Amino acid sequence: MDVECLVIGAGPAGSMAARELAARGIETVVIEKRQEIGAPKRCAEGVSKHGLEKLGIEIHKLGISRVIKGAALYSPSGKKVVMEGHDMDGYVLERKVFEKHLASEAIKEGARYMIKTQAVRMERENGRWNVGIRSLDGDDEIRAKLVIGADGVESKVGRWAGLKTLNRLTDYHSGIQFEMAGVNADENYIHLFFGNDVAPLGYAWIFPKAFSSNVGLGILEKGAKMRAYDYLKKFIEEHDDIFKNASPIEINSGGVPVAHFTGMVSEGVMLVGDAAQLVNPIHGGGITRAMHSSIMAAEVAGHALKEDDLSRERLEEYEKKWNDEYEETTSKLMKLRGFLEKLEDKDFEMLADMLEGEDIFKLTQAKLSFFVKKLIKKPSLLGLATKYLKE
Ligand code: FAD
Repeated sequence: MDVECLVIGAGPAGSMAARELAARGIETVVIEKRQEIGAPKRCAEGVSKHGLEKLGIEIHKLGISRVIKGAALYSPSGKKVVMEGHDMDGYVLERKVFEKHLASEAIKEGARYMIKTQAVRMERENGRWNVGIRSLDGDDEIRAKLVIGADGVESKVGRWAGLKTLNRLTDYHSGIQFEMAGVNADENYIHLFFGNDVAPLGYAWIFPKAFSSNVGLGILEKGAKMRAYDYLKKFIEEHDDIFKNASPIEINSGGVPVAHFTGMVSEGVMLVGDAAQLVNPIHGGGITRAMHSSIMAAEVAGHALKEDDLSRERLEEYEKKWNDEYEETTSKLMKLRGFLEKLEDKDFEMLADMLEGEDIFKLTQAKLSFFVKKLIKKPSLLGLATKYLKE
């Protein structure tokens, strides 16, 4: 089969890319290795309403499991700081529905989907990519002018295209989660728990859904004394008030790439979403960023295909667009992560005492200088903050 554009992976990034490409009249085929789009999820399903609105992305109402007012953050000793207002509204999605809807929109625009179809190799020949595929119909090949690598955190497309996509092990969070029914937590908020015995160099979460909750945590292996799964069991055992009547109905696990690499494009190849490791390095959220990267990539691809110029230099416009919008924020958030990773439990307690919800919101927006000033009276933290957060 010969196509103009082949999208590998039908997560939020792949289907958004397919929708945007097909809407430009580009012949687009999407392959997805799983038997069902959106399942099993590897995600807590939280998104910010404001973030979606900024991109003009509308979520089908059936894809929204619960509307959220804000976030409640808990220090290791249980001190609570609430963040609400200031664009803190959000949704906990039903990804299975949300992703299928996104795929249906791409199909409406003319994209063609093949499920249970895996890309197994990719070679360059006569200015096209030959992509080996494996499906229920056996092995076959698709020849494409442009390949969009939307194959998530375990992406192979970048490597096949000769890009250096491997980061340090310390740049991947291990995530594990139960979806649980019977959880007793305020359903208007997502709940985030911090502490080196709770989730070393990460955090634990409860994200309420329509009739269940995503309960999980992400850790960095380098700070861990046991498996993420053991930390999650311990977290549940230690919060009897929340979980005494709760039981799991699903288990999910996955990696979160919390660092970014350069080189998101190659000759006839663009990487989007987790394949390009574009998640927010502080909270690990990647759905909105994945879709945004695809909107940017499709715009550049549309022009490049018309000009019949799919050279790396031409496609680099996409990477430039991404960097113009996100590079500065991402690098500040990486510094903030470096600082947070050095904190001991007593420091989290100190921060819980001195920070309001509004301050934490500002931090998540990569506003760091006010924070350093605020730490003047806390010499033990000021040194760390000056080292890590100096702009
Ligand atoms: P994916 O959603 O991973 O999609 C990639 C797709 O490619 C998959 O469907 C896969 O099957 C397919 N694929 C892979 N290889 C091939 C191949 N060779 N051939 C064909 N198909 C292939 N983000 C948030 O915004 N909010 C959250 O609350 C949140 N919670 C998370 C919790 C956990 C535990 C984890 C692990 C991640 C979480 N994330 C969250 C991150 C979020 O899930 C990702 O950033 C997002 O899914 C990225 O979308 P994507 O389309 O790039 O990749």
